[in-house]
Amino acid sequence: MIAIVKDTATEAQLGHFVNWIEGRGFKTNISRGEHETIVGIIGDTTLIDPFLLESMEIVEQVKRVTEPFKKANRKFHPADSIIDCGHGVRIGGGNFQVIAGPCSVEGEGLLTIARAVKKAGATMLRGGAYKPRTSPYSHQGMGPTGLDLLMEASAELDMPVVTEVMDPRDVGLFLDKGIDVMQIGARNAQNFPLLREVGKTGVPVLLKRGLAGTIDELLMAAEYIMSEGNPNVILCERGIRSFETRTRNSFDVNAIPVLHHLSHLPVVGDPSHATGYTRYVRPIAYAACAAGADGLEIEVHDRPSEAWSDGAQALTPPQFADAMRRIALIREAISADVGV
Ligand code: PEP
Ligand code: MN
Repeated sequence: MIAIVKDTATEAQLGHFVNWIEGRGFKTNISRGEHETIVGIIGDTTLIDPFLLESMEIVEQVKRVTEPFKKANRKFHPADSIIDCGHGVRIGGGNFQVIAGPCSVEGEGLLTIARAVKKAGATMLRGGAYKPRTSPYSHQGMGPTGLDLLMEASAELDMPVVTEVMDPRDVGLFLDKGIDVMQIGARNAQNFPLLREVGKTGVPVLLKRGLAGTIDELLMAAEYIMSEGNPNVILCERGIRSFETRTRNSFDVNAIPVLHHLSHLPVVGDPSHATGYTRYVRPIAYAACAAGADGLEIEVHDRPSEAWSDGAQALTPPQFADAMRRIALIREAISADVGV
């Protein structure tokens, strides 16, 4: 971290500033230019609040030269992480996976949808048993029964299951049931006790970007999980809130290459929550794929108008099968060696 000191600062003020920093266990390196003096701060600067420094009278500007996320950072782990999700399914580092299924687990109907998505080529099954609903009066999920239904479908189809955990107190139950991948939803992307709790397990975590979360906030959320000892984090771009009202959210396609640049963790795109309408899901799935996503999470329902949640954005099984054919073509096109 460097602090640029105002050219009006006196030697006494500079000395006082340096003492303040060194008094907190950091080393400093002062470089005096013609117009400005730069104080380099050496040590674990994640412990310093840059805003506090910037609020000091003699400080012009503060800049971080290393990112505050370490374990998620590609600088310290150059190779892509490959995460083992169970049932022989690995994601990242060239391994592409499609997670599909209904928004909510709704009972035995889950199996019909699960069979259809598997037939179309999905490699992981999704379904929410604990639902983060904006209204407390909306369907809240089937709870433990929903987890059992997911595990039954998983056993029949030999597919790992991805399902959302909302409460740190439920993490033990998810472990007992044998859930393969725990999803942290957008609304919980900064629920730090929950992030820490899933971090204490070795179970892969699909971590969604917050509703209005920046890329750095997503990486810091991953850091929370990883700092507790769980390296198995899959990042998910699911659209962010913007001024646009025509879609549920705005899919930030930029986030995919940016996350790949900054981090070694796999990145998945969720075109369903990003758009909110079935008609837009496929184009955005293709865009995510073309931008280099390591996978997709797509909501599928055989009777969208009857769905307990998010029917408006569900693909039907034939629509999903069509998407899967085109996704395979896009993946082939972007990996082709075109000899340039
Ligand atoms: C979901 O995956 O069903 C969900 C609620 O997603 P998000 O957290 O992205 O809104
Ligand atoms: Mn949903």
